[in-house]
Amino acid sequence: MIVEEAQGVVVVGAGPAGIAAALAAAGSGVSVVLLDGGARPGGQYYRQPLVGPPDTRTVRAGARLELAVREHPRIDHRPRTSVWALEPDPEGTHLVHTQQGPADAARRVRTIGAAALILCPGAYDRVLPFPGWELPGVCSAGAAQALAKGQGIAVGGRVVVSGTGPFLLPVIASLLDVGAGCLGVYEAGTPARWLRHPVAALRDGLSKLPELAAYAARLAVHRVPYRTRRAVVAAHGRDRVEAVTVARLDPDWNIRPGSERRIDGVDAVCVGYGFTPQLELAVAAGCALRGPYVAVDAAQATSVPGLYAAGEITGIGGAELAAAEGEVAGLAAAGRAIRPGAVARVRSGRRFAEALADAHRVRPGWRTWLTDDTLVCRCEEVTYGDLRGAVRDRAADGMRTLKLTSRVGLGPCQGRVCGRNAAELAGLDASGADRRPIAQPIRLGDLAEPP
Ligand SMILES: Cc1cc2nc3c(=O)[nH]c(=O)nc-3n(C[C@H](O)[C@H](O)[C@H](O)COP(=O)(O)OP(=O)(O)OC[C@H]3O[C@@H](n4cnc5c(N)ncnc54)[C@H](O)[C@@H]3O)c2cc1C
Repeated sequence: MIVEEAQGVVVVGAGPAGIAAALAAAGSGVSVVLLDGGARPGGQYYRQPLVGPPDTRTVRAGARLELAVREHPRIDHRPRTSVWALEPDPEGTHLVHTQQGPADAARRVRTIGAAALILCPGAYDRVLPFPGWELPGVCSAGAAQALAKGQGIAVGGRVVVSGTGPFLLPVIASLLDVGAGCLGVYEAGTPARWLRHPVAALRDGLSKLPELAAYAARLAVHRVPYRTRRAVVAAHGRDRVEAVTVARLDPDWNIRPGSERRIDGVDAVCVGYGFTPQLELAVAAGCALRGPYVAVDAAQATSVPGLYAAGEITGIGGAELAAAEGEVAGLAAAGRAIRPGAVARVRSGRRFAEALADAHRVRPGWRTWLTDDTLVCRCEEVTYGDLRGAVRDRAADGMRTLKLTSRVGLGPCQGRVCGRNAAELAGLDASGADRRPIAQPIRLGDLAEPP
């Protein structure tokens, strides 16, 4: 195996965290290799359209960051480059295995040796299952937004959005931007829970108020109903989604009996219940976790020497926090002093993130929306009944045995969509579900004979 030894710092992921890390490290005089699976830098928040000029404030801000990255003499940005595995090297560096190029074409496989590595791979959005969620037309809120922002395509003309958290608002904005009609937004939680965190809401969340107000104004202009303590609890249709059932929920998200209401004429449902951090690279490297996130110290250093983490893998708190963490990680990995301003922004962002997690926590009552024949794992078509059978009759007492006895999480998504839900439904500990030594699909030929 030929290893390209990187001078300076290697950053994985070019979202808000990775870009800030790369700019901070490079700005302090160190060379940076910035690896990203996307065609253009920006990550989820600054996702750049693949065609057409930038036309929103966020896209314009992303375009400025893209220019800063591209023109920086010390940043070697490698787009369309996925890190498919990470392993420790006996020399004390990290071996970063990458593949470059579009899928289904000859991909270039190479390994980079990094003494200082910053992981910023972000998160993916969480979908909860309900009867009918496997119908074409039901998709994750993030997928709908990526399609709208990246390709300018609307998932449907008569869309219903359901889930929890402020992320639902930019999703609707993106849908409206591309001409979709939105029949309603159903927020399973309630903004009243923010009253438990007045300090975080007012002091640390103040900068987000104008953005929130702009979203509220757009909903009003387009007459999109926004209902709290309600959720889509079933989707109906023959070959694709045609209608949904919306129900009122109690504080634990159990359906209030008799509150179900059918909405007909629906052609798409977007579902988003928060985010799940992409932990596979950090887990493969042996980083200690704190709950579902990578544990880091004040310099964003993980428990593994020379390995830093920033952005959504250390906690879900939005693009501003991700960028502040990235700046701290970039300077620390470059061996430079960390600016007090960045540390203060991280602290404030984390307080807001904790309040956000509490205010929009997924409540256990969602499990009562399911029937025995509701699919839990769409890839392997495993139902809730199959899952219960595996626990009851085949003594599945951990995620590994649950996978082997029911096949849940063994399909193409490798449990990224269903793993956390299956663990909760089976009453099992979800830790270990992120142990995937191969983080991205790779061809056997590339594995066997790297050029
Ligand atoms: C689908 C989705 C949509 C979102 N939309 C919004 C929004 O509109 N507004 C908002 O405020 N917040 C949004 N968020 C939340 C948002 O992700 C964060 O606030 C912010 O973008 C996090 O920054 P990050 O740098 O940690 O991660 P990201 O922005 O997710 O960036 C991670 C980057 O890492 C790359 N990557 C991941 N794994 C690998 C790998 N193995 N190899 C190479 N590259 C890799 C990805 O391609 C991506 O470019 C969204 C989140 C998701 C999941």
